[in-house]
Amino acid sequence: MPKGKIVKALSGFYYVLAENMLYQCRGRGVFRKNKISPLVGDEVIFQAENEKEGYILEILHRKNELIRPPISNIDQGILVFSAVSPDFSAKLLDRFLVLMEAKNIRPIICITKMDLIADHVIDEKIRQFAKDYEKIGYPVFLMTTKEPETVKQVIPYLKDSISVIAGQSGVGKSSMLNCLDHRLQLKTGEISDHLGRGKHTTRHVELISLGGGLVADTPGFSSLEFTGIEADDLPNCFPEIKEFSIQCKFRGCLHQKEPKCAVKEAVENGDISSYRYEHYLQFLEEIKERKPRY
Ligand code: GDP
Ligand code: ZN
Repeated sequence: MPKGKIVKALSGFYYVLAENMLYQCRGRGVFRKNKISPLVGDEVIFQAENEKEGYILEILHRKNELIRPPISNIDQGILVFSAVSPDFSAKLLDRFLVLMEAKNIRPIICITKMDLIADHVIDEKIRQFAKDYEKIGYPVFLMTTKEPETVKQVIPYLKDSISVIAGQSGVGKSSMLNCLDHRLQLKTGEISDHLGRGKHTTRHVELISLGGGLVADTPGFSSLEFTGIEADDLPNCFPEIKEFSIQCKFRGCLHQKEPKCAVKEAVENGDISSYRYEHYLQFLEEIKERKPRY
């Protein structure tokens, strides 16, 4: 039986991409017994009825999934933050990074609206943040829609991956998607206008082929809460803390007040940024207390 990937779900049909052919499929119901319904992003076994239609027989193992947008098997998260308006927040970025690391999603960081920085001190600050995050191992792109080629820097990173765009409202996610590919613009604008349902249209996601990979046409991220992340998991969600924690004296060291903690030493030596460590401690408290964010 052929294997394919669901790239779109609409009106009870699943569109399965297999070897450059798109099949409009229905589920055969076998997976309904397991209370699992197909998601965009799923790898499936299907049976082709003809060159255009078929049936989904089996959903293969999902490595992860999101609720918003409803999509599975996400490889990469494109985190969009604006330099200004709204102002860049390293703490919010760290929160997104933790959520992605916990789901095994590889993050890349985009800082938009670089054209709006009026003050050279802020410009310096943003460039220093970019260096800090690159040092940790995250790709960082500084961009402005005024110069589309700065946005298109991310295209080579899309290859062979399913990517989802995430970030606060107003940072420029839609503008970025539009700049990457005009088909993405058609998807967000046209459908809701045409049906006249505006913003409350039930969202359907579609994966768009771009740069040799697939990108979700709908930005989003399910939640900013650390639900499902335990205190022990948190050090592993900060790559540089994870790296140094191997040298801590105590196994299970949470790098707070424990003696001979290699992470605290690395902070003191400047090998780990103090603001990253501060955010780690704050998130750890939040997880321990499970207190709401505000
Ligand atoms: P979203 O909510 O994240 O999708 O943000 P939008 O794409 O809707 O952008 C919010 C506002 O920021 C819009 O008015 C955009 O025109 C503006 N914007 C987005 N990117 C840039 C940029 O690089 N430079 C400037 N000057 N404005 C931008
Ligand atoms: Zn430690």
